[in-house]
Amino acid sequence: MSEFSFKIYLASFKEGARERIEGSASPTFLDIQEKNLKFLEQVSIQIDVELTKEHLILYPSLKTEAWIPCAICNQDIPVVVTVSQFCHMENRKEIFGGFLDIRELLREALLLEVPQIAECKEGCPERVALAKYLTKKKEGNLPFQDL
Ligand SMILES: [Zn+2]
Repeated sequence: MSEFSFKIYLASFKEGARERIEGSASPTFLDIQEKNLKFLEQVSIQIDVELTKEHLILYPSLKTEAWIPCAICNQDIPVVVTVSQFCHMENRKEIFGGFLDIRELLREALLLEVPQIAECKEGCPERVALAKYLTKKKEGNLPFQDL
């Protein structure tokens, strides 16, 4: 896949047709420098582009991996982050210079999909150690017990 340019040039699309563009981008465009959120993998990008008389309509699908700390043991673990069923419509009158830069749009869409909580895949090794404690805690604290 080629490096994605983030610029959607209206002139390269036919009015009334739907076309797919794809590529991958270095995660640096996400501009994330946080202790509890890291992106190390390329972001794969696939966008269906539709041009109508008045609008540019984009249907982006994104996929990458983020590293966030396990909620139990606090080790960084990879989680898949995907964007699908997302749609963005832009009025052609508001597109200047013949292209739309979608870097920020894709960035925000992807960051919204990062899970808030993750846990080591095969069951966190520390969960076993905590199991006794967690079970006890649950027994005395069932929120829907009286419903
Ligand atoms: Zn863990």
